[in-house]
Amino acid sequence: MSQGTPCSHLTSQPDLEVLFVTDTYLSIAQAFTRCTACLQHYQIELVDLTTSIRAFRISTLPSQVVAATVQSLQKGSCDVDRASAELSFVSQSAELLPGVMLRQEHSEDAGDNKTVRWVYTELAPGMQVPRADWRSLACDGSFIKSLNCDI
Ligand SMILES: [Zn+2]
Repeated sequence: MSQGTPCSHLTSQPDLEVLFVTDTYLSIAQAFTRCTACLQHYQIELVDLTTSIRAFRISTLPSQVVAATVQSLQKGSCDVDRASAELSFVSQSAELLPGVMLRQEHSEDAGDNKTVRWVYTELAPGMQVPRADWRSLACDGSFIKSLNCDI
């Protein structure tokens, strides 16, 4: 997997629209998203979480690949093997970014009004974006803590 470059919005004022969720763990674990400003597509994959923050590794994706795959998945194919084959095809065209995406859900009140904030953060020298599937990662908040990021 080659290294991708984030669009300028990602590093300044990121706002991602979630297009299609491909895996869940309480909330989003893996999804196709796009930058609301320039429509660059990104795949996000869960690497750690706390009660309010989720950290994702993030990769750029070619728009045509996302469009074709989402369309195919939305057809609701019962063929699980085909769906996973398609997702692995998508991952082959993904280019991993050097930083991670943080997503914070913040409740304004006791109700269901949640605001979502995205923050893209580069890693400190020597740190690496976890490559494993979230199922085999600790997901105990320690990676997020190690980022020392004020979200
Ligand atoms: Zn953008």
